[in-house]
Amino acid sequence: MIDFEIPEDAKAVRLRVRKFVHEECMPAEKELETRPYKEVLGDLRKSARSQGLWCPFIPPEYGGMGLGPLANALVQMELGESYLGALAMNTQGPDDATMLTLLVHGTDFQKEKYLKPLLNGEKRICYSMTEKAAGADATGMQTRAIRDGDNWVINGEKWFSSGASVADIAMVMAKTSPDAPRHQQFSTFLVELPNPGYQIVRNIKTMAGESRLGEVLGGGHAEIIIKDLVVPNENIVGGEGQGFNMGQHRLAYGRLRHGMHNVAMAQRALDMAAKRVLERSTFGRPLADRQGVQWMLADCASELYMARLVLLHIAYKAEKGLDLRQENSIAKVFLAHMVHKVVDTAIQLHGALGYSEDTPLARWYTSIRSQRLVDGPDEVHRWTVGRNVLKAYKEFGTTASAAGGDLL
Ligand SMILES: Cc1cc2nc3c(=O)[nH]c(=O)nc-3n(C[C@H](O)[C@H](O)[C@H](O)COP(=O)(O)OP(=O)(O)OC[C@H]3O[C@@H](n4cnc5c(N)ncnc54)[C@H](O)[C@@H]3O)c2cc1C
Repeated sequence: MIDFEIPEDAKAVRLRVRKFVHEECMPAEKELETRPYKEVLGDLRKSARSQGLWCPFIPPEYGGMGLGPLANALVQMELGESYLGALAMNTQGPDDATMLTLLVHGTDFQKEKYLKPLLNGEKRICYSMTEKAAGADATGMQTRAIRDGDNWVINGEKWFSSGASVADIAMVMAKTSPDAPRHQQFSTFLVELPNPGYQIVRNIKTMAGESRLGEVLGGGHAEIIIKDLVVPNENIVGGEGQGFNMGQHRLAYGRLRHGMHNVAMAQRALDMAAKRVLERSTFGRPLADRQGVQWMLADCASELYMARLVLLHIAYKAEKGLDLRQENSIAKVFLAHMVHKVVDTAIQLHGALGYSEDTPLARWYTSIRSQRLVDGPDEVHRWTVGRNVLKAYKEFGTTASAAGGDLL
């Protein structure tokens, strides 16, 4: 079963957010050329809050809008149209997924000290799991935490911690129990920054280059040395040995949020492509009149349509509290490829202009390549999905339940 009816209140909030993104966030992107981003973002956040547009999925008692999975998905699909959208409503990654983890698994002390300022937009948090030693298979992490009375002392290294150089708090994963079963060897620690034990070596230069987006999101992806970092025991999130559960909890939402923002970005790219081919003529005819060009637009529209349906179905399952792990992995891979294809097509149809920095397309293209790697690379998700296909067949004599077939 799936219910396609979108409730009136969800439609209304989507409309308010769309208006905010179009009338305030998109014009503010231009202001970044002349005003410091903190000022621009500060004004946007003030305006968002005054309109009750703040932390969409956080319950009202914690200062958020209390939206359920469906309304939140609709809102996120709007926010991704502007790279200031999510930031303006304090629902940007990586902070948002971590807020969710603290909300569900944090102690009262952790909520008061660490979650509250995050929800207020006063502080930012980064997530340090990946190491040069281990990424896709994070159980290879070497960073080690040793108990010392009421504290832990952590030593090791991290890399690609997004936003670490502007974060006030880091969530750091380290090995606490080397003899425990593989997925219970690690714990997650809340670390206050700056901290002499958590040294940022550099922001790693990437194919996305130095961009305004990188600046806005705050300093890129950091390489970190962890040396004799002292963390109180009360800063372990979710209990000792629960690091992987905490990681999965935050990644599950983060994956989908990327996908929701991808829909908005792809929609904007397709709009730009349509506008361009209507205006541009070659060989005596508008590009828009060529069937080959229409097919390119049609392929993008098909992908976007499927992307929306996938997200709505997952939101529906989340609303009902149903297991959505298989769909989450399928969607994560599909949405990363979808946005890549649509932005690539939009660049192609813009010709050299698409390759230039005179439109946002080139910047989007280099930044979204990472989505096939982050939060689990394509191959790891496809591996999981494929195993579930086989499991379903063995159990039910059909693979339907692993391929959306429970809709029937
Ligand atoms: C832009 C960006 C932001 C990031 N932000 C963060 C962050 O904030 N915090 C954080 O902790 N990490 C972050 N990461 C790291 C990210 O989570 C890792 O890059 C990811 O987990 C993959 O790990 P890896 O790069 O070490 O690749 P590896 O583990 O070395 O894997 C390399 C490749 O091998 C293939 N592969 C791996 N396993 C399998 C398999 N079982 N079967 C088939 N093929 C396989 C895949 O193609 C994979 O891409 C970020 C990365 C990027 C690019």
